[in-house]
Amino acid sequence: MTTITKEAILAALSKVQEPELHQDLVTLNMIRELEIEGDKVSFTVMLTTPACPLRGQIDKEARQAVMAVPGVKTVEIKMDSDVPNDGRMRGLVNMPIRNAIAVGSGKGGVGKSTVSVNIAIALAQAGARVGLMDADIYGPNIPTMLGVERLPPPQGQRLIPAQAYGIKMISMGLLVKPGQPLIWRGPMLNSAIRQFLGDVEWGELDYLIVDLPPGTGDAALSLAQALPLSGAVIVTLPQLVSLEDASRGLNMFKKLEVPILGIIENMSYLDLPDGTRMDIFGSGGGEQLAQATQTPFLGKIPIDQNVRIGGDSGKPILVSHPDSPVANALREIAQKLAAQISVAALSGKNELPINIVE
Ligand code: ADP
Repeated sequence: MTTITKEAILAALSKVQEPELHQDLVTLNMIRELEIEGDKVSFTVMLTTPACPLRGQIDKEARQAVMAVPGVKTVEIKMDSDVPNDGRMRGLVNMPIRNAIAVGSGKGGVGKSTVSVNIAIALAQAGARVGLMDADIYGPNIPTMLGVERLPPPQGQRLIPAQAYGIKMISMGLLVKPGQPLIWRGPMLNSAIRQFLGDVEWGELDYLIVDLPPGTGDAALSLAQALPLSGAVIVTLPQLVSLEDASRGLNMFKKLEVPILGIIENMSYLDLPDGTRMDIFGSGGGEQLAQATQTPFLGKIPIDQNVRIGGDSGKPILVSHPDSPVANALREIAQKLAAQISVAALSGKNELPINIVE
């Protein structure tokens, strides 16, 4: 009988590439708890996100590689995950948030908050620890979308986030009394954001999704500057005007040296009952913008009235209609985004210190 060695197994696994990160599983230190018992090999693959879109492929290729080692009869693979920490968050604000991702848009009404909420829920459903910060000071509507009316009582000086559908959430809208106008000026905004980061009992988070105000005005700019962002995504509609707005949004993040993780096209098309597809707002614009700016395209989201109904009633589409085409599109986008975050975090380009604007 051939004796199987750990070295032989690791040599086989070092031929298996992580498809997003373009390095092998051994170099990436993803193989853990490797055990050999007779002709049986077992190990854990430590993914960089629980929302890994290619876990099936990794499992299959790792299994094939190990089965090809002489003497191996059975392979048992467990999948676990450990989300890498982005350099920007480290040491800057003293809290255990691994990645902060801004969701921006060139203008309002394109579905930025809807996308933020549903992506946050998709990541949480995959098993990640997720926070959602509603920093859209012009229309803080995330509490309504999640059916949250108030925050839990603070503990001393610490604000406690609300919990809904497995995510922790805090919103500018919950800190002011209903009907009270929100007038934010630069310094106030900066201190509010600082408070949202430093004074909130977030606990350990893999991802903090930040819903920014639309546009590239002062508010969006100072928020993006005050936050140590790992990256940003831009939500746009398919038509041209909206794309011009979106590219201004892209440029804002570029100037701030915030990596662009991708572009999401919302309200891309409407599936009609007769099976045809209608491009209400034009088509393909998001993809074109992604190509022209060499930015990843994360996906298209169709129009579905259940998205609006879900948003108004505090039950997001991912929860109210989890098997709908819109929910599937959002889930795929969340997975692609998680993969992009891993790529950015592991490539080390986020180790740059970011300037905090006082
Ligand atoms: P923003 O945050 O960009 O201002 P919202 O997320 O508030 O935009 O969305 C604006 C409106 O459009 C909301 O009523 C929302 O429910 C609706 N909406 C967003 N995306 C879709 C979609 N894919 N299909 C149908 N309605 C949508």
